[in-house]
Amino acid sequence: MSEQDAAEAARLLSARRPIRTQTCQWCGKPFGAREAARYCSQRCRSAAWKSSHQESEFDSVVRGVRRLLSRLPKDQRIEVLDLVQRLEQEERSPQAGLLDFGSE
Ligand SMILES: [Zn+2]
Repeated sequence: MSEQDAAEAARLLSARRPIRTQTCQWCGKPFGAREAARYCSQRCRSAAWKSSHQESEFDSVVRGVRRLLSRLPKDQRIEVLDLVQRLEQEERSPQAGLLDFGSE
């Protein structure tokens, strides 16, 4: 068997491998793939990667605070939640403060 034949045989074999239905771990859509795969597309793969690798320090602090909040009594929870939301807004729109200054 020539090298070319071997490559062709390998290609045919892989094409005949059954397609398994899997569920995308990012968007939850079912998809078919011959190899075990976690995501249906490159887009989902990179979105999942980003969310696990690019969480900012602030995001993780907010997450921690929210976790602590669930243990507080309700009235205290609302107070802290207000503060967290205000901080979150400031963090996500750093221009807001400047715009307030500039407006007439
Ligand atoms: Zn997906």
